[in-house]
Amino acid sequence: MLQSTMMDQPLTLDLLLQRAATVFRDVDVTTRLPDKSLHHTNYGEVARRAGRLARALVAAGIQPGDRVATLMWNHYAHLECYFGIPAAGAVLHTLNLRLQPADIAYIAHHAEDRFLIVDDVLLPLLAQFRDEVNFERVIVFRFGGAAHEDEDYEAFLDSAGDAVALPAIGEDWACGMCYTSGTTGRPKGVLYGQKSSVLHAMGACLPDAVNLSSRDIIVPVVPMFHAMAWGMPYAAAMVGARQVMPGPHLDAVSLLDLYEQTGTTVTAGVPTIWMGILQELEKRERAWRLTPGMRMIVGGSATPVSMVKAYERFDLQVIAAWGMTETSPLGSLAQLRPEVAARGEDARHWYRAQAGVSVPLVDVRIVNDQGEVAWDGESTGELQCRGPWVTGSYYLRPDAADAFTPDGWFRTGDVASITPEGTIHIADRTKDLIKSGGEWISSVELENEIMAHPAVAEAAVIAVAHPKWMERPLACVVKKPGVELGADELREHLLGSFEKWCLPNDFVFIDEIPRTSTGKFMKLKLREQFADWQWSELSA
Ligand code: ADP
Repeated sequence: MLQSTMMDQPLTLDLLLQRAATVFRDVDVTTRLPDKSLHHTNYGEVARRAGRLARALVAAGIQPGDRVATLMWNHYAHLECYFGIPAAGAVLHTLNLRLQPADIAYIAHHAEDRFLIVDDVLLPLLAQFRDEVNFERVIVFRFGGAAHEDEDYEAFLDSAGDAVALPAIGEDWACGMCYTSGTTGRPKGVLYGQKSSVLHAMGACLPDAVNLSSRDIIVPVVPMFHAMAWGMPYAAAMVGARQVMPGPHLDAVSLLDLYEQTGTTVTAGVPTIWMGILQELEKRERAWRLTPGMRMIVGGSATPVSMVKAYERFDLQVIAAWGMTETSPLGSLAQLRPEVAARGEDARHWYRAQAGVSVPLVDVRIVNDQGEVAWDGESTGELQCRGPWVTGSYYLRPDAADAFTPDGWFRTGDVASITPEGTIHIADRTKDLIKSGGEWISSVELENEIMAHPAVAEAAVIAVAHPKWMERPLACVVKKPGVELGADELREHLLGSFEKWCLPNDFVFIDEIPRTSTGKFMKLKLREQFADWQWSELSA
C-alpha cells in the first residue's frame, strides 16, 4: 500500500464559514421579520457574529461536545447559531417548536442541553416546559422586538473579547443534533458531524441534487429545526448563494410575496406548502412575477404527480426529494434525466414525482423476507441505505440498535422498489406514524389514549390521504357493547393529552379491528378499506 501525498485537512464547517466570510462577504442574507419587514445582513457579518457567539459560548464555559439548544424560526441569528455553536466545538441542538411542550422537554432533557437560545416570540412556548428542563442559561434573541427579562442575545455576543481562543475542531466531532419521532418509544437523537455536514452540503450543491450556486437566491421554507433545514444553510454558505429566511410567515401568499420581492430561484419545503401555493396561483387573482423555472425542492412526504403537472403550467419546477433526519437528510432527488425526458410527457411526470436517484456517496438497497431484491422496478421491500451522512446509531439509545443491519445499513422503515436505472419509488411505510404537513403524529399514542376511554373496546388509528395535509389520522373505533359514544366525546377526551392538530379528523365506528394471525392489528387492511375516505367538513 502506498500512502497518498494529499494533505490531511480536517473537513470542518469552519472552512465553509471562512470562505463565506471572504469570498462571499457582501452576499446578502435576508430575513423577513415577524412584522414582515426585511432585515438585511451579509455572510461577512454572519461570520463575524458567529465567531463572537462561539467565543461567548467558550467564555461561558461551554466545552467541546456540550449541547446548546435553539428554539427558533428561520432567520439570520439562527444561521449564526448554525455556525457559531459548532465553531465553539459544541453541538447545535435544534428543538422542534411544533412538538408538544412535554416532548420538547423530554428531548432537551435527554440531550442534556446546557444552554438554550430562544426567539422572544417563542417565550410563551418555552414557559410551558421551562420548569421541566434545567437549562443553565436561557439567551433570548429579539426577533419580534418585545422586551423580556432574560439574558439578551446581543449582550451575550458582547460578553467575550476577541482574545478568547476557540478549540481546534476535529472533523469527527459532533456539531448538530436532531431528534426524530419514533414509531414506538421516545424520540431518538441523531448527531451530525463536522465532516458529514460538509460532505452533505457538497452533495446537496451537485447539479443533479439541488444544483446550488452563487447565482441562486434560496428560500428554505423547511424549518431550521427540521433535519438542519435539509442542509440548505450550510450548502448555500458553501457556494455563496443568497439566503432569504422566511421567518414565521409560511402561508402561501406571504411566501409568494417573498419569492417575488427577492427574485427567489430555489426554495425547499414539504408538499403541503406547495399545495397551498398552487391553489393560490390557480385562483389567478394576482399575477406574481416569479423567476421562470424556479426550483421547488419537495421532500418529507410523497409528491403527487398532479402537483408536478400543475406547476409545469406555471413554469415552475418541482424537484422531489427523499430523505430522513437520519440521513442528514438528503438521500435522493428526482432531477430530470435526459433519458427519462426523452420518453415523453407521462414518463417525465411520473419520474418527477418519485424519490429519484440516490445522491452520490449514498448507497441504497431493497431488502425483503427473501433477502436483497433486484432493481426491477417492481419488487418491493424495505429501503436501506448507508453513506458518510447516514447515521450509524442513535444518541444513547442502544435499545434502538435494530434500526441498523448487522452488515452496516440503516433500515429506513420505508417500503420501496427501485428501477434498473436506480429510480427509487416509495410505495409504503412500515412506521406506524402519520405525516401531516411535514410533522409526525404517532398513531400508537393516539389509539392508546382512545382505548383509555371507558366506552372504547379497541381502536386503531391509520393515515389516510388528505388533499391539504397529505395525510391525516382517521380513528377506527370499536365501542363496548351497549354504550353510547360519539366523535365529539372522543375528541374532548383526547384534547387533554394532545395538541388540537394531532387529533384524528374523523372517527369511524366499526364492529371489529381486523387482526393478523399473531393477533396484531392489521392496519394494512384498514388502510385499504378506508383508502377513499371522504373527510367530513370538520377536517378542513
Ligand atoms: P424530514 O424532516 O426530512 O421530513 P423525517 O425523518 O421527519 O425527515 O421523515 C422521514 C420520512 O419521511 C421518510 O422515512 C419517509 O417515510 C417520509 N418521506 C420523506 N421523503 C419522502 C418522499 N419523497 N416520498 C415519500 N415519503 C417520504
